[in-house]
Amino acid sequence: MSIVRLSGIATLLLFLLIGCSETEDHSNDRFFLKKQSNFVPEFSAQNAYDFIQDQVDFGPRNPNSEGHQQAKTFLIETLRSYAGQRFVFAQNFQVEGYGETLELTNIIAAFNPNASDRILLAAHWDTRPRAEEDDSSTMQSQPILGADDGGSGVGVLLELARIFSENPPPIGVDILLFDGEDYGHSSDLDKYFLGARHWSANPPVPGYSPRFGILLDMVGGENAQFPKEGYSRRYANRLVDNIWSVAAELGHDNLFLPQQGGPVADDHLIVNQYAEIPMINIIHYKSDDGRSVEFPPYWHTHRDNMDIISLETLQATGDVLVEVLYNRIPLRQGAPNAN
Ligand SMILES: [Zn+2]
Repeated sequence: MSIVRLSGIATLLLFLLIGCSETEDHSNDRFFLKKQSNFVPEFSAQNAYDFIQDQVDFGPRNPNSEGHQQAKTFLIETLRSYAGQRFVFAQNFQVEGYGETLELTNIIAAFNPNASDRILLAAHWDTRPRAEEDDSSTMQSQPILGADDGGSGVGVLLELARIFSENPPPIGVDILLFDGEDYGHSSDLDKYFLGARHWSANPPVPGYSPRFGILLDMVGGENAQFPKEGYSRRYANRLVDNIWSVAAELGHDNLFLPQQGGPVADDHLIVNQYAEIPMINIIHYKSDDGRSVEFPPYWHTHRDNMDIISLETLQATGDVLVEVLYNRIPLRQGAPNAN
């Protein structure tokens, strides 16, 4: 009798469990992704490459340099041509650097601006004022071109901006280009992430609360690998898993490695901690034991130039992003998402 009753209860439990999983409500799960049946526009790696070339042509874009000033004008004008004059905002601010006052600017562009349900995409647009990893000791004090470290994330985001202008995204998307990410000496994290710190402490839109953010940093290098970065897993583990699953479906699991990586301090850490927006980082490094962080050999050297930029890496990164943004995010019922 008791056995029969137990198995009856077990059956009931099983039924409830199955019933639950079939009708599970994901409307409050900000990381939930599910294939929709939407049109997904094509991402052009060549366009992204050309946008990186445009930036590198200005030379190093370290704060207070001429290249920095020229790149700022270029980025604002390019984003205005895609988002419209009214929907690009330059957040100017000053920070004390090493014996100099840095004139910095975060650049923000809003697409599908009326949607309350939003996603944040970010990259840093400044480049490093020195090359301490370079083999040539005389060149270590010189600023780098930062084709991958700075240029690539911005290049991918400018190509996305172009796509958004032709095919308005179903969800609101904000592109945020951080300044001053890579300024600090390697032992001085307080002088890193200057733009992310300023933006998090001074949000241009009070109460801004996108579902999640994706940071792109070094997403254009040859033979790139993106392990599941440690802070991204800490703050948004399911989002990492879901996006890496989309990458695997598209055949890009040779880049988006189904493997844990060590934690990389980057702009997303500041956004997670101070803006309290869950943000992940797609970033090229090796982490054989799942805890260490080994950046590619050209990192913080003068070899970070157009020679190491790969169309394949840019294409894989872009493919995953357009698939996620256009075809994987279930819109909330009744949410005003008119364009
Ligand atoms: Zn860097």
